[in-house]
Amino acid sequence: MALRVEGIVQGVGFRPFVHGLATRLGLAGYVGNDAAGVFAEIEGDPETVADFLSALGEQAPPLATVDRVTVEPRPCQGTAGFDIVASPRGGAASTLISADSATCDDCLAELADPADRRYRYPFINCTQCGPRFTIVRGVPYDRPLTTMAAFAMCAECAREYHDPADRRFHAQPVCCPACGPALELRRDGKPVPGDPISSTVDLLRTGAIVAIKGLGGYHLAVDARDDEAATRLRSRKHREDKPFAVMVPDLGHARDLCEVDDLAATLLTSRRRPIVLLPRGRRAVAEAVAPGNRQLGVMLPYTPLHHLLLGAVAGPVVLTSGNVSDEPIVYRDDEVEDRLGGIADAFLTHDRAIHIRTDDSVVRPFGGREQLQRRSRGYVPEPVITATGFPDHILACGAELKNTFCLAKDRHAFVSHHIGDLENYETLRSFTEGIEHFQRLFDIRPRIVAHDLHPEYLSTKYALERDELAAVGVQHHHAHIAACLADNGESGPVLGVAFDGLGYGSDATLWGGEFLLADLVGFERLAHLAPVPMPGGTAAIKQPWRMAAAYLDATFGAEVPETFANRPQWQNVVSLARSGVHAPLTSSAGRLFDAVAAIVGIRDTVNYEGQAAIELEQRADPTETGCYRAGLTGTDPVLIAGTELIRSTVDDLRRGVPTPVIAARFHNGIADVIIRTCGVLRKSTGIGTVALSGGVFQNLLLLRRTVQGLAACGFRVLTHSRVPTNDGGVSLGQAVVAATRC
Ligand code: ZN
Ligand code: ZN
Ligand code: FE
Repeated sequence: MALRVEGIVQGVGFRPFVHGLATRLGLAGYVGNDAAGVFAEIEGDPETVADFLSALGEQAPPLATVDRVTVEPRPCQGTAGFDIVASPRGGAASTLISADSATCDDCLAELADPADRRYRYPFINCTQCGPRFTIVRGVPYDRPLTTMAAFAMCAECAREYHDPADRRFHAQPVCCPACGPALELRRDGKPVPGDPISSTVDLLRTGAIVAIKGLGGYHLAVDARDDEAATRLRSRKHREDKPFAVMVPDLGHARDLCEVDDLAATLLTSRRRPIVLLPRGRRAVAEAVAPGNRQLGVMLPYTPLHHLLLGAVAGPVVLTSGNVSDEPIVYRDDEVEDRLGGIADAFLTHDRAIHIRTDDSVVRPFGGREQLQRRSRGYVPEPVITATGFPDHILACGAELKNTFCLAKDRHAFVSHHIGDLENYETLRSFTEGIEHFQRLFDIRPRIVAHDLHPEYLSTKYALERDELAAVGVQHHHAHIAACLADNGESGPVLGVAFDGLGYGSDATLWGGEFLLADLVGFERLAHLAPVPMPGGTAAIKQPWRMAAAYLDATFGAEVPETFANRPQWQNVVSLARSGVHAPLTSSAGRLFDAVAAIVGIRDTVNYEGQAAIELEQRADPTETGCYRAGLTGTDPVLIAGTELIRSTVDDLRRGVPTPVIAARFHNGIADVIIRTCGVLRKSTGIGTVALSGGVFQNLLLLRRTVQGLAACGFRVLTHSRVPTNDGGVSLGQAVVAATRC
């Protein structure tokens, strides 16, 4: 019979697996790779062939994901033995490429074995582990189309590569100290003699900042116990407050720093090796690593180089993305010393090129599931399988901040790696080149391009410039809710609660505190936060005190408490808000959080998006049960009076209530008004399922309170898991909405 296996079946040891299985069962035939996946011819008696087929799914190699197996009966050719045949070139590429995978246990054992020829070799890998997506330049996934093409295999490596019984059979990045990439430590533009790893460890121990080449780009490293070094890294990188992630040698060290339950341990040790956000535990890292944060982002080593380094440091190391401020992470060797020269004291680099820039992924455990905050290395380019499918090839361009794009066909949504904020040339280039790369890799020729309604987003402009494609505009918050539906394999209708910073509304105002009756086809805006002016437009995003002024003016008018009204520029901003000139109306929940953070004195200005809200959450006392109450007025739409939350905040401030209590009561008040609004809408629509989406739900305290409260009222609640709740999930939502308009 003829067999075809589709899914992630190349570069993961699938052919040797088929070969081994068939040989064990005494079956004859052959197996090979082509652009569509794995093909095979199997000959033998029907019972043994049936055994073979059941074992095929059950015993597949760990990195494989079998999507579909198709079988076609054929007369026996009388073949003897079982062969692995060569890959034919050409054909339509539709096979899937594996994500990069952490070093496996077998390779770790060899790495630590003085008798092994790859003892302490920082590039050891095999069919089950190592770089994949980050080194692939084209399909089929074969060495000449990876960045390993530059290295000719030595005789010993070639023997392993060609031996079906070897665990490195067709491991495309296979290499050894004799033939593969080599490590180099550079300082002042020159190589440092001696062992690069022990020299790097010495540098870290003395407080130096070292740029270290990883799988998807350069990291900047300092000893996480060294407050002075971490502080210096912050100032050189122009990253004042955003927390750094740390890498620890093993799970035991992770347990020292954080509370690690079973799910957290599974996430930390998974072959995807994301940064896992966890509650801090008994032992601390330096204050400057994640100042004022109750959580810490932790990851375990995922390359052999990390294992060697962390093993020698034997403690936590800050590993933050190698960039200045908000630029994309540096991944090219020819530009690293230029771009990071002002930050790093030394560069630990090597000559295996990174083809595509890929950041670390960020996840957290929530409600017994993994919740992606940033979906990138280790996850991409695995597709999100959707329940509804795509009748045509679709490109969805995503939003502006935390951009991802998505290319979709059949049941597969290929959501891209984290591209970043589309506000500079470098990021835009990653975006356009990424789209071209994904189109080639997955043989997707889009006919439809989905985009945000915001005319100024660079992603929208790109979409509209591709005038050979049929454009479908998808409202930002509709895309958020559609993403949440697709994430959960559902199609609605639901009550969608989309709370975020800002998104362009269908009425050309800025939305962000929305209750939508939505399915994948369309939506109706049933309720939202009562709009307030955003004085100075986008200037208010960086200066939360402007939102405080707008909200206080809307709440108290001429009666604004003097403590606020006496601040410099206050009157100017209030006049701007009242004039409506350069003060667009917004129903954004994120901006309401900003206003409260500024009113209680946490932050007047911010240096990254969402910072004020994050700090308000971090200050909130999670044991406080008191709750501010916002009224609801009207029916079509229902309007939520954010000003009433502001009034309660100011009342408590005057009474001298401590900030953590006020912050908690405000959070509880937002959860409460979401729950009550959903109650009202359930009555009018008869719909009892709620989907929560938008960046505001990265707020763990709010998300917990909201989910618990909704469940207690009998709602079924959908939250994100496979794609981020923030704008990183928007491209998936756009794609599934566009699919309904094919
Ligand atoms: Zn391995
Ligand atoms: Zn070799
Ligand atoms: Fe958004």
